[in-house]
Amino acid sequence: MQLHVPTAGLYVPDGSPMPDALARTTHLCIAAHQDDIEIMAYHGVLACFGLPDAWFTGVVVTNGSGSPRDDVYANYTDEQMMAVRRVEQQKAAMVGEYSAQAFLDYTSSDVKNPGNPDVADDLYQILMATRPRVVYTHNPADKHDTHVSVTLRTLAALRRMPAEARPEQVLGCEVWRGLDWMQDEEKVALDVSAHESLAEALLGVFDSQICGGKRYDLATIGRRRANATYFASHTTDVFTQMNFAMDLTPLVRDASLDIATYTQEFITRFANDVNARLRKLA
Ligand SMILES: [Zn+2]
Repeated sequence: MQLHVPTAGLYVPDGSPMPDALARTTHLCIAAHQDDIEIMAYHGVLACFGLPDAWFTGVVVTNGSGSPRDDVYANYTDEQMMAVRRVEQQKAAMVGEYSAQAFLDYTSSDVKNPGNPDVADDLYQILMATRPRVVYTHNPADKHDTHVSVTLRTLAALRRMPAEARPEQVLGCEVWRGLDWMQDEEKVALDVSAHESLAEALLGVFDSQICGGKRYDLATIGRRRANATYFASHTTDVFTQMNFAMDLTPLVRDASLDIATYTQEFITRFANDVNARLRKLA
């Protein structure tokens, strides 16, 4: 595998040969930044944790150079910050027993440039080497440009795969915007109740992002708890923690579907629901 950025790399926590670590992957997460995987795709980590025949692999697309920094990191250069964030992601891969962790090492502007084919090309190579059953990425209604760009590059790479090699399920997940607004019957509800201490450990290793006052660890667990409690179709809290996802599988099965239109239709159904209730009750 020849990734485009010279500083790109792959890390295998258990030391298995790289081709084997990729080939055994069943669940793959493609995320913009270090810590996004642990925030949005804990479901995939759990689906593989401690099992001999299920393996989770993470892909982080950007290099972390523009990361905010505070506390002991306040005077770090961009290069030092990139190194810190890569080590933090490696810690998470170790704690979560990932099969492999890829670092594509792009700048955010590279990812956001629709004319740059390299990101989708790297993702295509990783997808073909892993052939996962399930792919997690950002949801297309996220409010962070880099996240949405990663979703678009991921979908482009998935659409390049031969039909028989494509994953069974592709999910758009929650980071910079939850998906509670979606109609309950359209939500892909992911039970992430298990191993809460593991979930906390995975979020907690990203100290460089938390120590400036942004408690992503508490906020992420809080969102999962709120999702579980306010998910209407469960009268009691069967699940104590839940992530929601938007099903992106149709966009991969049918490459002619327009991604913006597909996303807009979820929003339209939400708008129609709000409007219909108000009109009914007024
Ligand atoms: Zn992010």
